[in-house]
Amino acid sequence: MDIVNLKDKYDCDYLTGLISRRGLYDYYASLDKSKFIHAMFLDIDNFKRVNDVYGHSMGDKLLICVSQLIQSHTDGFTSRIGGDEYVILLDASIKPNDVEILAQTMLEDLENLDFRKDILSLISLSIGIVFNQPVSQILDDILAKCDAAMYQSKYDGKNRYTVYRSYDKTLEINRNIELEMYDALKTGQFHVYLQPKVNMVSSELYGAEALSRWVHPEDGLRRPDMYIPLFEKNGFISSLDMYVYEEVCKLKASWANEKYGHIPISVNMSRLHLYNKEFPDTLESIAYKYGIPTNELEIEITESTFIKDNAELIRVIDILQEKGFMVSIDDFGSGFSALNLLKDLSVNTIKIDREFLKLSSNNSRGKKVIRNIIAMCLDLKMDVVTEGIETKEQIDFITRCGCQIAQGFYYSKPIPVDEFVVFADEYLSNIHANYTFHLDGDTTAEDCDLVGMLNGEGFEYRQGIFKDSTALHFPGGEPEKNTVFIPTETIVNDSFSVSVWIKPEIFYAWISALYIKFESGFCSIIPNAFDGLSSLRIRDSKEVNGWYDVTGRPLNVTTWWHYSFSYNAKTETATAFINGEVVGALENVPTNRYVKWIILGGDVFQPSFVGDICEFVIYNEAKDHLFMKELHESYISREDFIGFEVDKE
Ligand code: C2E
Ligand code: MG
Ligand code: MG
Repeated sequence: MDIVNLKDKYDCDYLTGLISRRGLYDYYASLDKSKFIHAMFLDIDNFKRVNDVYGHSMGDKLLICVSQLIQSHTDGFTSRIGGDEYVILLDASIKPNDVEILAQTMLEDLENLDFRKDILSLISLSIGIVFNQPVSQILDDILAKCDAAMYQSKYDGKNRYTVYRSYDKTLEINRNIELEMYDALKTGQFHVYLQPKVNMVSSELYGAEALSRWVHPEDGLRRPDMYIPLFEKNGFISSLDMYVYEEVCKLKASWANEKYGHIPISVNMSRLHLYNKEFPDTLESIAYKYGIPTNELEIEITESTFIKDNAELIRVIDILQEKGFMVSIDDFGSGFSALNLLKDLSVNTIKIDREFLKLSSNNSRGKKVIRNIIAMCLDLKMDVVTEGIETKEQIDFITRCGCQIAQGFYYSKPIPVDEFVVFADEYLSNIHANYTFHLDGDTTAEDCDLVGMLNGEGFEYRQGIFKDSTALHFPGGEPEKNTVFIPTETIVNDSFSVSVWIKPEIFYAWISALYIKFESGFCSIIPNAFDGLSSLRIRDSKEVNGWYDVTGRPLNVTTWWHYSFSYNAKTETATAFINGEVVGALENVPTNRYVKWIILGGDVFQPSFVGDICEFVIYNEAKDHLFMKELHESYISREDFIGFEVDKE
C-alpha cells in the first residue's frame, strides 16, 4: 500500500498525521469485498498516567512518537482511531507468523524510542491481532475482534500481543460484560437467588445461601461463572458483594414477621474485602441499618483465599466473629490448604466442596477421607455443610459421617426469592421441631402423625398430673419388655433436650425410665442409681472409660417428678433438672450420634420400669435453666394441675 498516496485520499489525524478513524472507514469501504485482511489493534498502556502526571503536551508528544514507531515498522495501512488507539490493516497475503513478529518487534522497540526514559519505563503496548478476515463483513466486526484480543493482553499483564481466535468467544463477552456491569448494577439487573440449606435428618430448613444472578435484558440469565472470575480480576466484585449483602439484609427486614425470617443467610465475600480494614464495620453498619442481628448473617470465604498473608486474614475473620457474624470456609477441600487452615482458623462452619464430595465418594479411600474430615470438623465444634448433594445415596453416606446439613440440587437449586418462600413454607413445619407425647389416653404425638409403639402388655392409663388427664402406667417386666418405642426421627440434632413427668411405683436401682440408644453409646434417665440417687447417664462406647453420670436427688416412689435434661453438643455439657431446678451438670461429655432406639419405661439391660409416665417432650435443641424453670412453672401453675396433690394423699 502506498502510504503517501493514501494520505492524499483519506482524512488524516491532525496530531500524528496518521489516517484518522473516518479515513480508516472510508478506506475499508473502498476495498474489494472478495479480499481478506489481517487487523492489528494497539493501545498504549498507562497512557492516561502520562497525561495526568506529565501533562497533555507531553502526552501528545508521546502519541506522535509512537505513531512514528508504528509507521516505521510496517507498510500496512496505519491509523489512529482515538486517543491512544491505533489500528493497522495488513494484506492477508502476509504470513500470520510475520504479523506476530511485527507485533513482537514493536513491543521491544518501544523501549528504545528516542523519548524520556522515565516515561518510557511507565508505558508499554497491548496489542490484539485478528487474521484472515473477509472484507465482506463490516469493519466494526473486525475491530471488535481485535479490540477484544487487545483487551486480553491488558488482562494478561500488558506489554504483549494476543491473537484473536474465533472459537474463543469469551474475549468479546468479557469486553461486553465490563462495558455493561456498572449500569447493570444500577438498574437492578443483578438478582439475589437463594439456595436452601436443609437438615437431611429432620428435613428442616436450616438456612440459605444468597447467590447472584445477572438477568441481562437481551441475553437473559447469566450465571456467576460467566462474570464472577472477571469481576474478581477487575475489582467490581466488591461492589457486587456489598449489593448482594444489602439486598439480603433488606429481604430479612421484610421477613421480620415471617417464621422463616430468622434463618441464617450466607453471602459470598471475595477475598478482596479482607484486605480492607473497614470491611467488618461496613457490614455491621448495614446490618444495623436494617435491624438484622449479625448472628443471622453468615460470611462465606472460599478456601483458596487462604494461600498467603493468612495472619492478616485471620485477624479480619476474628473481628467479624467478635461482631457476631458467622463465618464459613467455602469450597473446603478444593485446594491444598485445608488442613493447615483448620489448625489456625476458628470459623463457625465448614462447607465441603461439591467436587471433593464427588471425587471422594466414588471410592473407599475417598470415603474415609470425607468421613474423617467431617469428624475432625465436628470435633473442633464447627458445623459442617455438604455442598452439591444430588442423590439419596449421598445423603445416606454423608449423614452417616455425622454431617446433617446439605445444600444441593437434591433439595433445591438456587431459586428466586418468591420460590424460596414457597419452599420455606413447605419445610417450615420442621424448624426446631419439638415432639410432645402427652400419654393422655394414647401414645400419639401432638400435631403430627408419629405414634409411640407399645411393646408388650399390661399397660393401662391412670390419673395424670392434670385433673382430667391420664398417664401411661408401665407394668414392668423383663429387660426391654412392656416398654414404649418412640419413633427415632424425633431426635435429629446433636443438641437436644427432654422433659418428662415420672412417678415410680417401686424402688428398683438402675432401671431406666427413658433410654436412648445411639450407634456408639446411649443416654438414659435412671430414677434410682448410685445410692438410690437419680442419674442422667450417658455412655460413649468409643471410649473404655466413657461413662458420664449427672447425679441428682432420688426420684422417690409414688411421687410425681418432673425430670428434664439438656445436652449441648457445642459446649459438650449435659445438665439435669428436677422440678425445674438444676440438680447437676457435667462438662466434656462427647456427642453421641445416630439414634437407634428411643425407649420409654426400660432399657435392654435391666428389668423394666414400674410406675407412671406422662407429658414426654423432646426438643431438638439445647435448653437453658431459665427455659426449664419456666417450663416447670407452666405445668404446676395450671389450675388443673394436681401432680403434687396426689402424692400427699
Ligand atoms: P459457591 O459459593 O460454592 O456456591 C455454590 C454453587 O454450587 C452454586 O453455583 C450452586 O448453584 C452450585 N450447586 C449447589 N448445589 C449443587 C448441586 O447439587 N450440584 C451442582 N452441580 N451444583 C450445585 P453458582 O450459583 O453458579 O455460583 C458459583 C459460584 O460463584 C459460587 O460458588 C460463588 O463462589 C460464586 N458467587 C455467586 N454469587 C456470588 C456473589 O454474589 N459474590 C461472590 N463473591 N461470589 C459469588
Ligand atoms: Mg458459597
Ligand atoms: Mg461452595
